[in-house]
Amino acid sequence: MKHCVLCGNESPLPFMEKKGGLIVRCGECGHKYLDLQPQAAELEALYSEDYFVNKDCDGGYGDYFAGERHLKINFRRRIRIIEKFQSGGALLDIGCGPGFFMESLSSNWTARGIDISGFACDAAAQRGNSVTRGLFDPALFEPESFDAVTLWNMIEHFNDPLRSLKGIHDILKPGGVCGIYTCNADSLFARVCGRYWHLFIIPEHLHFFSKRTLQEMLRESGFEILFAHSEFLFFSLDYLVERVYKAFGRNPDRHKRPGFLKNILNRIVIPVNFFDTVTVYARKI
Ligand SMILES: [Zn+2]
Repeated sequence: MKHCVLCGNESPLPFMEKKGGLIVRCGECGHKYLDLQPQAAELEALYSEDYFVNKDCDGGYGDYFAGERHLKINFRRRIRIIEKFQSGGALLDIGCGPGFFMESLSSNWTARGIDISGFACDAAAQRGNSVTRGLFDPALFEPESFDAVTLWNMIEHFNDPLRSLKGIHDILKPGGVCGIYTCNADSLFARVCGRYWHLFIIPEHLHFFSKRTLQEMLRESGFEILFAHSEFLFFSLDYLVERVYKAFGRNPDRHKRPGFLKNILNRIVIPVNFFDTVTVYARKI
């Protein structure tokens, strides 16, 4: 079994089996994670075009691009928070996908993205974004060269998030800001839903943080916490319908949904908060 990346404990306890994967819980610090160590080639295969645009598969997105409007609303809200701590400069978006976050930034920022998905990188580049294809590796970047680094729906995908956070710390300038959004597996909603919780997504999600374990890992990596909350996010009704289907392992079958209904559902954007996610902003000290 994999050891706990947060405290080093080598004897985690079984927590839950889902879709052939075993989620374990550290008996020392409580951090939950998938007992799996995927290799770079497996990850690259996982985040193919199918992950972003596939109406049939369990994981990923039915149509990531259809969600551009609601995703950019959420991104602009996060940018306003980052700008309270850092007014602009060089920013790296890790797990940038097709680049919607970078496109949401004002001219105060010079953004670069990195993503393991060749499909996402091609899409981001075609849209005019500056993007590097590959796993995040601090050696790819100049030390102390960024004013901000963002990881939206990303840290749960790292094999070793503590090591990655230390790498992010290295490439941030002193005082630079790191923004992280991830799922909160200790939330009431996650506990009530159990194995049906929509964010126990196997095998994509490798780590299941709580607000406490995420903040501990950031402090361990040399950050001070600036602000943490469970944010309201805006989603289209079309996307929410898809998530409900997928949470129960059902095929959303969007092919059969009439086009006019899909268009209407995609235009209606509502704020949602199950208080089962955590967004943290931290500063390099
Ligand atoms: Zn632990």
